This record gives sequence, C-alpha cells and structure tokens, in this order.
Amino acid sequence: MGSTSKKTFLPLDPVSFTDKLPDSTPYCPEPLEDILKDVNDCIIPGLTHWQSPNFFAYFQANASTAGFLGEMLCSGFNVVGFNWISSPAATELESLVLDWVGKLLKLPSSFLFSGTGGGVSHGSTCEAVVCVLAAARDKALERLGGWEHMTKLVVYASDQTHFTFQKAAKLVGIPPSNFRLIETSFSTGFSMSPEMTRLTIEDDVKSGLVPLFLCATIGTTPTGAVDPIVELGKVAMEFKLWLHIDAAYAGSACICAELRHYLDGVELANSISMNPHKWFLTNMDCCCLWIKEPNLLTDSLSSDPEYLRNKASKSKEVVDYKDWQIALSRRFRALKLWIVIRRHGLANLMYHIRSDIAMAKRFEAFVRKDERFEMVVPRKFALVCFRLKPKAEEEDEGRELNRKLVEAINSSGRAFMSHAVAGGIYVIRCAIGTTLTQQHHVDALWKLILTRFGRKALALRKRCGTEFVGDEDEILDDFIAAAEM
Ligand code: PLP
Repeated sequence: MGSTSKKTFLPLDPVSFTDKLPDSTPYCPEPLEDILKDVNDCIIPGLTHWQSPNFFAYFQANASTAGFLGEMLCSGFNVVGFNWISSPAATELESLVLDWVGKLLKLPSSFLFSGTGGGVSHGSTCEAVVCVLAAARDKALERLGGWEHMTKLVVYASDQTHFTFQKAAKLVGIPPSNFRLIETSFSTGFSMSPEMTRLTIEDDVKSGLVPLFLCATIGTTPTGAVDPIVELGKVAMEFKLWLHIDAAYAGSACICAELRHYLDGVELANSISMNPHKWFLTNMDCCCLWIKEPNLLTDSLSSDPEYLRNKASKSKEVVDYKDWQIALSRRFRALKLWIVIRRHGLANLMYHIRSDIAMAKRFEAFVRKDERFEMVVPRKFALVCFRLKPKAEEEDEGRELNRKLVEAINSSGRAFMSHAVAGGIYVIRCAIGTTLTQQHHVDALWKLILTRFGRKALALRKRCGTEFVGDEDEILDDFIAAAEM
C-alpha cells in the first residue's frame, strides 16, 4: 500500500463480502491460482491495511523486511521448542535475544540471564500478564496457607490500564470485586496516583484483604500516559505487592537515551513486558517478558509429564520454556527478533522511533496552530491525542462532532484513525508508527482532517449559526494535491 493508494480503507458490507467466497469446503484440491485469485479479489479488499502509511489507529503493528524474513524462517523451520532438547538452538537464541533487548532497555541485571533473572517471548502482553499474575498468586497463597485465601487477593491498576489486565486477573481467579482501578484525571496527565493507590491499599488491608499485584503502564493505550514507577514501586515494596510494568507500546522507545527515563524505577519491579510487534519493526507476534525470579514463574507453570522427561531438563542446567508460558507448544519467535536487531542495529531502531516521534511532533504543531482544535493530553511518544474544541452550546462537549469527524475520515477510505475516552472526554488518537509512514502522509492526514472537518462542521454548525473559518474547496484541493504526491 504505497502513498499513491487513494482508498486504502474501504468499509465493506459484511453480506456482500461473504457472498463472494465459496461457502462449502472443497472435496478435491484446488489450483493455487484459484485460491490466490480469491485472496486478491475477496480477502485483500476486506482487510484493514495495517501496513498502510495512512494507518494511524490503535497502536500500529509495525513490520520490516527483516521481521518478515524472520517469520518466514520461523514458519519454514516450524520447530516447537517447548523444552531445551526439542530444539536447543531455539531456547538458547531466545535467552540470548531476551538479554540483548533487556540490555538495549538498560534493564538491571536482575532481569537478565546474564544476571539473576531471565526473559521469555510470548505472543501477547495478555499471556505474559496471566503468567506473572499466576506466579504472584501462587507465591501469595503459599504464604497465606492455601487456596481458600484466593478471595482475599486484590489487584491494582489505573482506569487507563489496558483491559487485558482485568481479563488476565479474571483468568487467574481474582474475583472481579477485588479489582481496583485507580481513577486518573486530566490534571495528572492520566497517570496513576501513588497516593490514591496507597490509600486504596490501606483500606483493603484494614478490611482484611491481601494486596497482591500492581500493574503500572509506560504508554497507556488511550492517551500514552506514563505511570510514576519510582513512587508506585515504593508503595508496592512497602505493602509487598508484585509490581509489573506494562510497556507494551512505549517500551520500544526506551532504547533511546532521551526517553529511557520513563523506565526509571524499573529496578523496583518484579516483572516487565513490552511488545516488539508494536514499535520495534518486528512482525506479529512478539511480546518480551522479563522477570526477576524466574523460579516463581516455573514453580507456578511447570509440568513434568513422563513423555517429556529427559536428561537435560533433569540437570536443571537448561531453560525449558514450556514452564514460562501457558501452552506447551511455542513458535521460534526469537529468530525473528534476533534477525530484526541484527539487520537494523540499534542505530536504525532508534532512528525509526525518533522519526516517528518527530512526525508526531509535526502533527501536534498542526493541531496547536489551528485554534479550532486542541491537544487533550500532552504528547510523550508518537501518539497525538486531540479533538475539535467543543462550542459552548454543544452539550456533549463536542463528543458527537469529534465522533463524526473520525467516522468521516475513516469512511473516506484514505486514512484510518481511532478514538478513546479519557476523563469523560472524547479523544481522537493519531498514532504514528507504521514503517512506511512519511512526513507527507502526516501532512495529508491533517489536510484530510480539515477537509472532513470542513464538511462536518458546515453541516453540523450551520444550524447554530456558527461561522466556519476556511474555504472548503480550497482545503479539498490542497488535500488532493498532497495525496497525489
Ligand atoms: N498493554 C498496552 C499498553 C497496550 O497498548 C496493549 C495493546 O495495544 C496491550 C497491553 C495488549 O497487548 P496484547 O494484544 O499483546 O495482549
């Protein structure tokens, strides 16, 4: 999907989409050309093109040729390195590359194999969090004297924490009534308040509950907020909570010296995870998890069936990654990550992060310069959260107008954006980070927004007698010229 592609994101009618595909399973093998023709004619038009340079939604799933090669090799070898002997090189490479990335992030040696900890790759943050929650739960239950104490365990996160945290907590058996979502607000940039966390924990302790787990985020999904790790770490230590840092999105950025400070305090955490498949040029899927006490993970997740017993595992001198994850089977993801790092080098990985941030700054400048728009939260990484300023007469604080703007942009088929609600405010999210996005795509997006804004604003605001500033045709011409570049 190059820059010349005008309509990358065409909404499909679900009925006409399935109508085109054969509805019965074939008895005889079909020619590959027929299958690929259907892929071309029926599947590709129905894809949301995540690799398009005009994809600005969610957090990107960026990719690279190196990552693609890694995936191809991974699929081609198709080894299943669940324990060391099932593919020694897969396990050894994973341990090595997890230490590499850990060192790029300047994690303390207590998280690395070369120190006293270790790392593992998972398919997603959600799986990683399920595993560390299980480890924390089992450690706590052992201390408390057994499973009957399960209903006392309480977990803490902010109302901005990714919903997968609640899903993970539910999966390990934490009663939903024991989830505490600490409210965030505009005034703290939607970061988690250590003071409110402490007060909530104290209340729970007074009620006879047992604080178990605190999840802090570096780069929250709705607004890219950063929780204060040092202060939260102190609270976690005082009340003996397991502190996990979810750096799924912004962890990648911390390889840059000027952004590493966001991880200050990581030494106080028990575990940390980040997704190279978001912003580290690594094709789906890949989540890195580091843990200070891998034995807690393996105590909780290990299994020892007769059919997997072998001398190497018995020696305890090797890593059996099946005991660091939920499933038995596992992909050779480390190969992909290793190739990505070797092929790009730290220099190009940093360049990628910095250029995305520079483009986000440029977009932010467009927003700030236009008095009809405003930034909703300060930008930290490559996510810009903005909106059309609500007019006094708009009772819903501009929610409907902004929602319609996102809808209009997406239905144009020229770009794809998403939204969030933070502190009750509808926020348009512009996440910059697909590998192919260049400055002119960002400029074209802004022009598209103005065009769509112009149309919607004219339609919506004519009634209120509000004057529209700007010539719609002129803006449209500008946009078309930019898109044709
Ligand atoms: N945490 C954060 C901060 C995220 O932004 C996301 C997804 O965007 C997740 C967790 C969920 O990640 P996964 O799909 O790998 O479970």
